[in-house]
Amino acid sequence: MKKLIRYSLLLIFIGIIALSVLSLFFFTPLQGSIQDLDHIIKYYISLHMLPFYIRAFIFIMTIIAIVAVYKNSLVLKKEIKYRKQIEKEARETGKSLEKSLALSKATLEATADGILVVDENRNISGHNQKFAKMWRIPPSCLAPGNDEAAVKHVLKQLKDPEGFVNSLHKLYNSEPTVEHFDELMFKDGRVFERYSKPQMRGDEVIGRVFSFRDVTQRKKMEEQLTYQATHDALTLLPNRVILIDRISQAIKIWKRSKKIGAVLFFDLDRFKLVNDSLGHDIGDILLQSVARRLELCVREHDTVSRLGGDEFVILLTGLGEERHAIPIVLKCLKALEEPFVIDKHTLSITSSVGVSFFPKNGKTPIELLKNADSAMYHAKAEGRNNYKIYANKMGIQTKKQLELINELHEAVKNNALTVYYQPVVDLKSASIVGAEALLRWNHPEWGFISPQEFIPIAEDTGLILKMGEWVLQTACLQNKLWQETGFPSLTMAINLSAQQFRQRNIPELITKVLQETNLDPQYLDLELTESVIMEDTQAFLKCMQELKKIGVHLVIDDFGTGYSSLSYLKRFPVDTLKIDIAFVAGLPGNSDDAAIVRAIIAMAQQLNLDVIAEGIETESQFSFLTENSCDMGQGFLFSKAIPAEEFSKLLKKNKFSSCHTTGRGDKKTTGAKGQIHLIENQP
Ligand code: C2E
Ligand code: MG
Ligand code: MG
Repeated sequence: MKKLIRYSLLLIFIGIIALSVLSLFFFTPLQGSIQDLDHIIKYYISLHMLPFYIRAFIFIMTIIAIVAVYKNSLVLKKEIKYRKQIEKEARETGKSLEKSLALSKATLEATADGILVVDENRNISGHNQKFAKMWRIPPSCLAPGNDEAAVKHVLKQLKDPEGFVNSLHKLYNSEPTVEHFDELMFKDGRVFERYSKPQMRGDEVIGRVFSFRDVTQRKKMEEQLTYQATHDALTLLPNRVILIDRISQAIKIWKRSKKIGAVLFFDLDRFKLVNDSLGHDIGDILLQSVARRLELCVREHDTVSRLGGDEFVILLTGLGEERHAIPIVLKCLKALEEPFVIDKHTLSITSSVGVSFFPKNGKTPIELLKNADSAMYHAKAEGRNNYKIYANKMGIQTKKQLELINELHEAVKNNALTVYYQPVVDLKSASIVGAEALLRWNHPEWGFISPQEFIPIAEDTGLILKMGEWVLQTACLQNKLWQETGFPSLTMAINLSAQQFRQRNIPELITKVLQETNLDPQYLDLELTESVIMEDTQAFLKCMQELKKIGVHLVIDDFGTGYSSLSYLKRFPVDTLKIDIAFVAGLPGNSDDAAIVRAIIAMAQQLNLDVIAEGIETESQFSFLTENSCDMGQGFLFSKAIPAEEFSKLLKKNKFSSCHTTGRGDKKTTGAKGQIHLIENQP
């Protein structure tokens, strides 16, 4: 419209100019008709009346004006063109700006993260829809000026709103230019990762951009994986990883607080039996039930863990004194004693517990566990269903030894030991005059275990008392049985350990066994080693005298290997010397051994003692001993120690031998040589 007016005015102006020019030069001859023109045209005619130079001036000015107008119109045109150009460009720029704005908006909306932009005054200057959705903020709270409502909405969802506010304060006040990353925990369990970055214009901070990512699922998966790696799948108890970590933590706390801790190592007694007899499913349920019961016995900050199999470990922390752990151990043992009812089975299970304390029994988790484990084996060895506190010397015993102790307990309890008998032969008649009862342990997994291996253990643990009594009973009964079967009466030699003698009640025990088995005391030889005799106490002497009164015979076993003092031979009421296998082994070639054996035999004769040589393996040893008047002997040349039934077979042969002797009463009887046929019948 403006343009139209402008062009119209320009046309009118040009028209006036044109009329003026025409009136100046062309209307002069038309003067006559001037009167007919109206008063406006008269004005132009009057111009004609002006002097020439004025008209020329007007003309020139008019031309100038025309040129100026023309020029101006050109400039105008150019300006218009230019403006049009600018307008076009502006339109295009606007479009591309719009486009890029749309693009960034689309990008912002397309991201999986919630984005929030806050200006320098901490007011919300932008956000995407995802942000509102993630934070569950109603649109009204995000409207400009409603920042406070939005913040309230945010804070009420967080687990630690105070921490959130503090972190923002720190960011805005002391760290405005830093990038920041952390995690936000929600009351409903969600977890957001928060990343923020300052919004800059040149060097100036004009706001901050926050991006929030919902990592709840990832966190849950991570937690699940961590849980699986640190917990026992069956009982859901912490496993070794956590246990070791907790022990380490407890040790650190001890360094500050001086509160001690205890590691209780539980191993269920005979759990294998449950698995083997009722199956693994029942075994698994039993383990789960044990776990629950143990958890109920301890305080919340203690740790109950399962190391695997039937091994559980409890970590007690914050104890004032070591003794404070004991009631908890007893509580656990008692809790387990209550029968478990699983799938119609009523199961009774007990546990053995080893206890180690920190810092006393170890300063590292591994050391503490190892020592508690070792103490547990001792608890098992001492009869199970009890506890043992770690003592330094326990570490000396190897696990294998401790296992052996365990198994020996089991064997004694389940009557898994047997007595074998080795014949004692009268060397002159070569007939059986006695037997030595020797213990045998055939382990279901490990096979035959040598008495030299298990007798010392049995002595250490006190098991020898029970075992010794049983051997005594079994061997005496067996001897009586042979006698009743009609075999010539034999002497039964039974080994007694120092432990049994220290018990002091050995005379009563022997009397009892002899009465129960109805065996005549003269057919019982009790073998003692020199080391036992050399304990040389009045009480021991008295004990030996009492035994003599009962009527049994006393034999010194392994003679020559112990103490050199022979004075005890005079002081103690000994009947027989048993020459140790070590001297017999060197016969007849080793002159030293030969001399020693000759000397022992001579001495025995002088003291009116019987002599038995043990470990006779060869004919030449046999000959040497016979030639040197050794009374009796035993060894592989005749027979190894064998079960009672096999021994009976040997006796049958012996019985019908023309030159057999009939036991101790007949021991001086001489018979035909060379009844070695006995060994031909060996099994
Ligand atoms: P010991 O009382 O000196 O028993 C003799 C050992 O020599 C037995 O070993 C026997 O098998 C072995 N022996 C016999 N003849 C020969 C032979 O010709 N050559 C060789 N190389 N060895 C022969 P075993 O049965 O291994 O018993 C070892 C030791 O264990 C016994 O020595 C005894 O001290 C102890 N022992 C065995 N049974 C009992 C028991 O019931 N109670 C106690 N306290 N100790 C026992
Ligand atoms: Mg012996
Ligand atoms: Mg011996």
